[in-house]
Amino acid sequence: MSDIVFRNVTKRYGNTLAVDDASFTVNDNEFFCFFGPPLSGKSTILRLVLGLEQPDQGEILIGGKPVNSVSPAERNVAMVFQNLALFPHMSARDNMRFPLVERKVAEPEIEKRLADVAAKLHIGHILHKPPAQLSGGERQRVAIARALVRDPAAYLMDDPISALDARLREETRVELKRIQRELGKTLIYVTHDQEEAMSVADRMAILEHGRIRQIGAPAEIYDRPASAYVARMLGSPMMNILPSVHGASGIEAAEGTIRIADARAPAEAIEIGLRPEDIKVRPWTGKGTAEGRPAQVFEVEPLGGYTVVTLAAGQARLRALLRGQPDIRPDAMVAISCEPGRVHYFGQDGGAL
Ligand code: ADP
Repeated sequence: MSDIVFRNVTKRYGNTLAVDDASFTVNDNEFFCFFGPPLSGKSTILRLVLGLEQPDQGEILIGGKPVNSVSPAERNVAMVFQNLALFPHMSARDNMRFPLVERKVAEPEIEKRLADVAAKLHIGHILHKPPAQLSGGERQRVAIARALVRDPAAYLMDDPISALDARLREETRVELKRIQRELGKTLIYVTHDQEEAMSVADRMAILEHGRIRQIGAPAEIYDRPASAYVARMLGSPMMNILPSVHGASGIEAAEGTIRIADARAPAEAIEIGLRPEDIKVRPWTGKGTAEGRPAQVFEVEPLGGYTVVTLAAGQARLRALLRGQPDIRPDAMVAISCEPGRVHYFGQDGGAL
């Protein structure tokens, strides 16, 4: 059992509430992500799990045991730091051996774990090299491998792959996900990259100013964000969120930008949210409103498999995500619409309705 539980945990630094009344459970064997902007409290949560910081209030449990007064060394959780410094004078192999030798693990067991982790991280061929002869990506993998060989109850990773270039980052996150599944270990992972969080996490927590705003599976949060804040945090391009007014024929956004014929639109809604992929864009025939509201194409970004179209409509700008490479030019008139079932409604406090 290596589930990790926070019960109403608060951590302050002076007047800063770094973690504000956080309660969550990271299940055994789960890939759990903390995602939020810089300074939202992600690293502090990791340090609290590790025992490098003490909560001002609340309780932390690892594997069912309260650990508030348990030292970091006794918590059996391993950290992979962002800039984890490998020992420069040691080969990759000796770097990986180090934590095991230190813990007096028997030699055959060391070799077994090394071979195991090296195979899973595809670093068998570079084990003889010192860090200086490794690429940045290889160094990161060795650093990850060094945490993995310890076989702890849970691993913590603080933005472990943000230093890699984009392509290697994509490869590495797939590998990490695969490794975590194969090892069947609890992994707590911090990232400020929404795509990374969504791609790796079984479940994720979204943070704002030290507060957990929503916890759930990525797809669940994406489809049913609890607030406008969370809705904006996931998805690229970002969800279009527009002020709305109720009219005779449904709900209308930003002075005629788009009209949603939704009889069930909640009366308290003051904003509507439209995912870019949910906005339908059709040629404007000049015939009126059956096909949607008129909009003018402001700019077109062809991205290969899909195209982002920025639209000027009414008083607002909207972004629509279209498949493939449609024949749409800047300044053209188009008709835009959105199915009522795809619309998100937000109330006075930003909460989803
Ligand atoms: P993140 O990891 O999301 O960037 P952090 O957990 O590092 O966020 O920081 C959360 C808040 O706590 C920030 O306002 C930060 O300035 C503050 N903070 C973090 N560590 C310390 C510290 N050692 N001393 C004072 N303030 C800190």
